[in-house]
Amino acid sequence: MKSTKQKAEGGRPQSKREAFAANCQLSTAYCSSHSAFHSVVLFFVDGLGIGSRGPQNPFDGLTEAEPLAIFQDEEPGIIFDGQLVRTDARLGVEGRPQSASGQTTILTGVNAPAALGYHKQGFPNEALRKIIEKNSIFLQLKKAGIAPNTFANAYTPGFFETRPRWVSATTVAVEAADMRFRNLDDLQAGRAVFQDYTNEMLRERGLQVPTRTPEQAAEILASIAVEHRFTLYEYFITDKTGHEQDMDKARVVLVNLARMVRHLLSKLDLKRATLLLTSDHGNIEDLSARNHTLNPVPTLIWGEHKDDMAARIHNLADITPAIVEVLTGKQTDG
Ligand SMILES: [Zn+2]
Repeated sequence: MKSTKQKAEGGRPQSKREAFAANCQLSTAYCSSHSAFHSVVLFFVDGLGIGSRGPQNPFDGLTEAEPLAIFQDEEPGIIFDGQLVRTDARLGVEGRPQSASGQTTILTGVNAPAALGYHKQGFPNEALRKIIEKNSIFLQLKKAGIAPNTFANAYTPGFFETRPRWVSATTVAVEAADMRFRNLDDLQAGRAVFQDYTNEMLRERGLQVPTRTPEQAAEILASIAVEHRFTLYEYFITDKTGHEQDMDKARVVLVNLARMVRHLLSKLDLKRATLLLTSDHGNIEDLSARNHTLNPVPTLIWGEHKDDMAARIHNLADITPAIVEVLTGKQTDG
């Protein structure tokens, strides 16, 4: 990017850290320990790709779906001055991108489909769990002295009582870094967000939790983010709805998710916080087929470091290194 290629005063090439500091709008005192004041929120949306317009695409003709409505061959203006990277989810491996290997890649920076030789559906197998246990973003940040970090999602009592045989990539990553899971008490107290951020699914199961609007959920997520250097949130109803091929439901899901993202953007201090939204593979943008799509996924980035990060990201394996670089102020390999 332009900023890293600029020459610092005195004519010597500018380091990445200096480039970050030069971009910093904060006071000199803040800038002296610049990276210590920056935080990143990774908003993971399962099954959100960039499709073409047409009757198969729930985004087509949908109003108020900014900033999620992105189409092939169109340059959207991104609200809050965000950056868009059309991100390769296929990772050089034959077949349709899948959740377990895609999420492992996002959360580690390791090209998991290439390591396995195929795209792995559903939950991580032992090989993927090993990759996460060794390389997760939570571990990388912990080793670099970046803390505190958190997974904002709430887990239900059922998870703690009877641990499921198969767990998500995010769950493996949290456990491997020896981090705490947020629970129903946290959710009730406004210190966690459920994957269905409205809490409707929990209420249908008879659990005593308040209903939340997209805006209320966004405010809670923003309040968690302000207390942490790195915050991860995971949302996967998009993928579920894509598999169901339900156009009406998809449109409601996308408009509400877009509301949540917009409100989150309005609540974050983008001078200090970077928001990065990405997905593991396409799905909901094409309801003509039950399967995941081969489409690229949107990586949307807001905040001071959006240009540097956007220049760094080409495929899903670039997400973790880009975040680690911003938080540590150091360049990683690759
Ligand atoms: Zn997925």
